[in-house]
Amino acid sequence: MANHSTTAIVLRTVEFSETSLIVTLLTKDLGRISALAKGARRLKGPFEGSLDLLSVCAISLIDKPGDALDLLTESKLRRRFRGAQRSLERLHAGYYIAEMLRLMIDDDDPHRELFDMTLAAMGMIDGDGPVAKTLLAFDAQCLRLLGHAPSTQQCTVCGRAVQRQRRRASFSLIGGGVVCETCRPSQTHLMTASWEALDALRVLAGDPGIENSDDSSADAETDSRPKRFPLASLFPPLSAEAYGDLRGLLNRTLEALIGHTPRMQPFLPDKLPG
Ligand SMILES: [Zn+2]
Repeated sequence: MANHSTTAIVLRTVEFSETSLIVTLLTKDLGRISALAKGARRLKGPFEGSLDLLSVCAISLIDKPGDALDLLTESKLRRRFRGAQRSLERLHAGYYIAEMLRLMIDDDDPHRELFDMTLAAMGMIDGDGPVAKTLLAFDAQCLRLLGHAPSTQQCTVCGRAVQRQRRRASFSLIGGGVVCETCRPSQTHLMTASWEALDALRVLAGDPGIENSDDSSADAETDSRPKRFPLASLFPPLSAEAYGDLRGLLNRTLEALIGHTPRMQPFLPDKLPG
């Protein structure tokens, strides 16, 4: 057993008994975890009503060995998600982010950059950021950070650069990228997307240039320094048509990875504002 203190985003709470909750958290240092919060349903106690969906909390927990649930011992609220007070669209966007993180990542696989990116996305959703573009960037960055970066220039079958002979490119949902004219007939699960949408996807899934947290030797030194994930720097100009294309492409790609349609997917913005 070990004690940990870290920062966490609440991804789900499930009532466990009359007084307790089981919480799913995305933590800065431990990845995604599930933990038992005894007494969390009481108003007074070590959790002070902090464990609401998408709250950012400073937590302490006891890491139980094996499959046993970790035990949350303390949680202090850092920031409450206020999407519901802003608009239904922002509330739904927050629910979508929580659902995707539950579906896309495995337990106990720490990923600092993903945590920072999620905080940045929630800050945009919770504030005045553009919801539709933020969610495109969130999805594209999730794909990149979890090792599924979409290929938007090289054929995913033969590796050659795909020529832009047609206005729309073929995109393989299984390969996770574009397919050239030569390879296209042999492929299944294809959809098409405009080159404008694919060019935007390349920007949205790009590395925004924060320090690389994959380098474990550098991790210890940079741990204490706050990192800002410049999510908005990734927003490319986007036509209404390209938005529809790209939203559809990301939806189908994520469905292929997850194996089903996320519950919140139908609630995503179906067009850009204005
Ligand atoms: Zn090819």
